[in-house]
Amino acid sequence: MSIQIRTAALFARVTTSLTDIPWLPLADDAFQTQSARRILVLNLLMMVMYYIAARLGLQLQFENSQATPIWAPSGIALGMIFVFGYRLLPGVFVGALLANLADFYFKGNTGLLAMLSEHPSTLGASLLIGAGNTGESWLAAILMRYFFSARYVSDNVKNVLYFVLACLVAPMVSATVGVTTLVMLDFLPFSLYQTVWSTWWVGDVVGALILAPLLVWITFAEPGTWRSLLKKDVILVLTLVVGITAMCFLGWGEVVFFTSEAYLLLPLLMLVMLKFGRTLTLISVFIVSALAVAGTINDIGPFVRADQNTALILLQGFIGVAIISLLLLDAMHHERENAFAQLRQLNAVLEQRVMERTLQLEHSNRDLERSNKELDDFAYIASHDLKEPLRGIENQLSFLMEDYGDQLSNEVRERLGKVPPNIRRLENLINTLLHFSRVGRLDLAMGKVNLEKMLNEILATLEGRLQQERIDIRRPASLPTVYADHARVGELFRNLITNAFKYNDKPQRWIEIGCTETAQEGQVFYVRDNGIGIPAKHFDRIFQIFKRLHGQEKYGGGTGAGMTICKKIVEKHGGRIWLASTVGEGSTFYFTLHKTEAAHTDD
Ligand code: ADP
Repeated sequence: MSIQIRTAALFARVTTSLTDIPWLPLADDAFQTQSARRILVLNLLMMVMYYIAARLGLQLQFENSQATPIWAPSGIALGMIFVFGYRLLPGVFVGALLANLADFYFKGNTGLLAMLSEHPSTLGASLLIGAGNTGESWLAAILMRYFFSARYVSDNVKNVLYFVLACLVAPMVSATVGVTTLVMLDFLPFSLYQTVWSTWWVGDVVGALILAPLLVWITFAEPGTWRSLLKKDVILVLTLVVGITAMCFLGWGEVVFFTSEAYLLLPLLMLVMLKFGRTLTLISVFIVSALAVAGTINDIGPFVRADQNTALILLQGFIGVAIISLLLLDAMHHERENAFAQLRQLNAVLEQRVMERTLQLEHSNRDLERSNKELDDFAYIASHDLKEPLRGIENQLSFLMEDYGDQLSNEVRERLGKVPPNIRRLENLINTLLHFSRVGRLDLAMGKVNLEKMLNEILATLEGRLQQERIDIRRPASLPTVYADHARVGELFRNLITNAFKYNDKPQRWIEIGCTETAQEGQVFYVRDNGIGIPAKHFDRIFQIFKRLHGQEKYGGGTGAGMTICKKIVEKHGGRIWLASTVGEGSTFYFTLHKTEAAHTDD
């Protein structure tokens, strides 16, 4: 890139960023919409406040230099302009001009007009000093407005840093213009330039640091803020602040420890900030600094030195550091509170979402339950109604065979003979379907079920077969008592045990029935065998109704509904059923029954 292009780009950047700076009344400034009369009144107020504060400050000026380490007007002007806008600058200018003119007037012993005609430079100096003071407020307000990312000074740490920067930089304008004017117009020897400049600067910096936040806060304060100050504990805190400050700076009680250690006030002020918030802290700082100035000019307190100016500068340094620390503390506290508030808000949104989702889920569950019920009802009605005509067909067929059997050819009789087994199979299927739909439709008859006792009964009914086929039943531990439907859980165990010895081709068959405790599922019951096993790809299929993995007559036959019914029973109890199996080695069917007594009564 050529030098010219680069220079042009830089120029464009600088000019755009300059036009971004709100040099004069801001577009978003509410003050713009104020009436002319109100603007005038506010300017007059600004002027009077500036004048009075300046006159008070000038009482403490350094060797007739018009520079004073105590300069409240800088804070008043900055606070007011930040709140009400740049249109208060005339008030600042006139207030500063009059205060300086008055200072020249009170120092001389002639009349005002005589002073102006004999020493016109007093007017010139006052005008220039006034302009410098106005420039300071203007620059500080621009810096604050431009860089602030939140409304109030200590709403966040970044704001505090920019505010401190504005308070440190802007007074340089006033100090430089003021002291240069005084030196140029022979009101001050050049040898004092540096001392007077630093006195001026420190006074303006600390004045702005203390008063601007206080004024801005007063104007932005919520309506209830002042009333909240009338509480008993607040009055106690203020008394404590006044008491300790008076011990430090006014020599109350004459405790040397206090009169020599100003920093003792810091923890107290920090506590006030954290416990009682901004308003009380800013008021406390104001009280501390007012009493501290009063004490220091009366030669009491930790900052007293051979000359008063040095003492006041040291005091201002202390107050400045204290207020910056407090503002930073407030900003961090505020940011933390904000983060918590955001977190709470997010939590609320999240909870709301969870609630909505739960509601949706409840709706879908209800829909699912309804459609399941409809399906069960349909299966029940269909199977019930199908049984009737089937019986008719069987009857008609037996009549046909009885009446015309001997007239039929062998081939026809043979063919007709194949119909009854099919009818019985169909009947079997219909009965199974009917049973399955009944399990789904009927409510569970819940009660305490002693599983150990129930298992004994089941095994007793199967004893003949188990002994005949020499099946070893293993029961590692006794089963617990659960809250369940006795008949249904009995059917569940019976189905699983029957399958366990049905699907087993080993010479030494065994079945293990037990219960384990897991952290996730609680009580888990199982029926294990050393049978033929099930390929993993069929784990889902075996729970589908009428699905068998073998030919119709293999392994003693079956309808393929047993596992489906088991699943239904377990799910009706709020549990789940699953299996682990290795082909050729055996299978384990696990299930849980989660319906507790309490949960059931809640239903
Ligand atoms: P059925 O026994 O009437 O065929 P089930 O629903 O009880 O119907 O079982 C479905 C299928 O699951 C069976 O056909 C069988 O293939 C398989 N099965 C069930 N239990 C076992 C088991 N313990 N070992 C091996 N296979 C099993």
